[in-house]
Parts: sequence; structure tokens; C-alpha cells
Amino acid sequence: MDQDWPEFFAALTYALDREDWRRGLDTLFTTLRPHFLFDNVVIYRAETRDALPEAIYARALGRGRSAEAEASWGENVANTVFSEGKIVHLPPSTPSSENRLANPHVLGLPLSLADGRGTLFFIRFGGPPYTEEQIHLASLAALTAALILDRRTLREIRAQLDAARHRAQLQDDFLAAISHDIHTPLGFIKGYTTSLLRSDAEWDRETQREFLTVIDEETDRLVNMLDRLLDSARLQQGMLPMDFQPVRLEALIRDMALRMQTRVPTLRIALDLAEAPPIRADGVRLGQVLENLFDNALKHAPGAPIQITLQAMPEKQSIIFADQGPGIPPEHLPFIFERFYRVPGESAARGTGLGLFICREIVRAHGGQISVETSPGKGTAFRIDLPLQPPPSPAGTAMREVP
Ligand code: ADP
Repeated sequence: MDQDWPEFFAALTYALDREDWRRGLDTLFTTLRPHFLFDNVVIYRAETRDALPEAIYARALGRGRSAEAEASWGENVANTVFSEGKIVHLPPSTPSSENRLANPHVLGLPLSLADGRGTLFFIRFGGPPYTEEQIHLASLAALTAALILDRRTLREIRAQLDAARHRAQLQDDFLAAISHDIHTPLGFIKGYTTSLLRSDAEWDRETQREFLTVIDEETDRLVNMLDRLLDSARLQQGMLPMDFQPVRLEALIRDMALRMQTRVPTLRIALDLAEAPPIRADGVRLGQVLENLFDNALKHAPGAPIQITLQAMPEKQSIIFADQGPGIPPEHLPFIFERFYRVPGESAARGTGLGLFICREIVRAHGGQISVETSPGKGTAFRIDLPLQPPPSPAGTAMREVP
């Protein structure tokens, strides 16, 4: 063999370093092939000694047959290599001189993997048989392939750990936020009640009313927060019941806008609503989605005008809810629909990071989707696409009834 070893090893290192393990294996085998002739290569893996081996990678680099065809007959031989744990060299069972494709020379090498056992097969049709030097080279390829697969496993474990750490961080942040958010209204309620109960003070009717109004509003705030918590826990477990009825989105939006306008008279709301036939939806839950979007606009884009558009298409209807507030920094966009996620550093705006999670889950339970477009300084636009009918079976997690 006429080898250029420095170049060969540089290619193996490159194969090991590739982010995508399949591409890493592709590089490995294309690097190998000029030095060591084979037609097909297949890798099997089994997670335990007793589990059935499964083909996880197959490539046809040479003459005849497809990689998939090889993958199907290889299971038996893979079992042999698994059980013997050593290199297996199988010449054609019934050599036939006419048909090269009927004469496969199979070389099976065991792979010792971090998460189980594997076998690497080389198939060469019609010979010649593998030489000892070629078997050494194939063993080097098996070691490299095992390293590539182990790196994939490590990357997966790392991603799982990162996700778990991210969830734990969200829960910590949530606990901090919720304790603060519960403390604040309770502090008001306690303070004003104590004042009213003081035996050494006389309050005129107007002051009493003022104090009681604060107590009333802060109690509403607490109840609202607990409702959200409950809803989000039920949505998470797929236990929030949905009551699908014919709903006119145009009327729902108008109604909600009117209510918000009454609650906040200075709010500027512009509506651009297409005439649209009713869709099957849960009007109360969709109202909750709109209310959450209004609450967010009031909290995170105070004073900014709001524009709501309804578009009707033959297969779906879309609501676009846009404000002209500060927008959301792009690095936070992938997370804002997650449970408990809040953009950090927003001390002024109270929140629990549940609003958008609840919106997303309710929209999903309708078989629809919610997305966001935003650019800092230019505002935020949420888009809700709803099908005319919810999915027939419980595709959304939220469609099962409360037992
Ligand atoms: P919260 O209860 O904290 O408002 P949400 O789930 O409703 O939680 O929103 C998640 C985050 O998305 C908020 O903390 C906020 O930073 C951001 N956000 C949501 N709506 C808007 C908006 N209209 N303008 C700017 N930021 C927004």
C-alpha cells in the first residue's frame, strides 16, 4: 500500500472533531477507502447484552447493493460478533464465480461503546479476502468510529444536563419571583386591615372605602396569580378541560378590547378585523389568551398603542396582536413561551413568567400555534394561527377532561 500517513491521520482527527457524528463517520470511511477497499459499511449497536442489535449507520461506497439491504441481513452476523466479542471474518458461504455480488466477504469488528456494544462491518463483494494489514487498518477505523459515537453520547448527555440545569434555574427564579409577588399584595392587605382595625384611630367613610378598595384589588391580584399557577400546572399535565363551541373571533376580540378600554381608559387600541365565519374553539380560554397579551402589553409596553388584526383564510384564522413598545431582546425569544421564563432585569414589571406559557398551551390545545416577531425599539407582535376545527383527538396536551 502506498500510504500518505500524515494526511491520513489528519483526516481521522478531522472526522473525530466533526460536530455531526454521521458526517464524522462519512469522513472516516471515505478517508479509509483509498487505503482499504470495501463496498459497504454498516454499524450496529445494542444498548445491553440481551437487546437486539440495531443498524444505526449504513453506507454503500462501492459496487452493487444498497446500504439498506446490507443492514437487514447483518443482524445475525452482528449477534455473532457481539457474543464472541472479537473480530469475525466471513468468506462467502457458497462461492459463485459468475456473480460477484453473491460473494460477499464480511469483516465484523466489535465496538466497545460508552452506552452499549456495537459492531462495525465492512463488506467487499467478490474478494480478494482481507489481508492482515487491512484488518489492522479496519481495527483502527473501529476505534475511531467508537470514539465518534462516544462523543455523540457525551454531547447528548451534556445537552440533557444543560436542559435540566436550565429547568432548575427557571424554578429557582420562579420561586424568588412568586415569593416577592405574593408578599407584595399580602403586605398591602395586612397593612390596610391592621390600620382599619386599630382601636385608637377613627377613619372617615371615604378613607375606609379607599383602604377597602386597595384590599379588594390586591386580593384580586392574588387570586389571579393563583389561578394562573393552577392553570399552568393543569396545562402542564394535560388536565385543563376545553369546551369547544362555535366562536366568532371578531366578536371575541371586540368584546375583550372594550373590556380593556373600560379598565384602562387611556389605552389606545386599533382594530382591523376581517369578517370571518365562526370557528370551533373555547371562547373563554381564547379570551384568557387575549387578556394575557393585553396584560403583557400594559406591563412591558406601557403607554404604547395596540393594534389587533384578524385575518381569515380558507383553512385558518389568524390574530395578530402588536404593540409599539420596547420589544424583546432577540436572545430571549427562544425561551419566552417556556413556563416561568421572564426576561431578566425587569424589576419594574411584576410577573411570574406564566402568561405566555399559558397562551401557547391553550393555542396548541386548539391545534394552532403562537409565534412572536419583535425588534428592539419597534414593538412586539404575537401571531396566533387557529384552524377552523380543533384536532379530532386529544393532540394538544390540554384537551383531556379533568377526572
Ligand atoms: P410575565 O408574567 O413575566 O409577563 P410572560 O410569560 O407573560 O410572563 O412573558 C414572558 C416575558 O416576555 C416577560 O417577562 C417579558 O419580558 C416578555 N414580554 C412579554 N410580552 C411582552 C411585550 N408585549 N413587550 C415586551 N416584552 C414582553
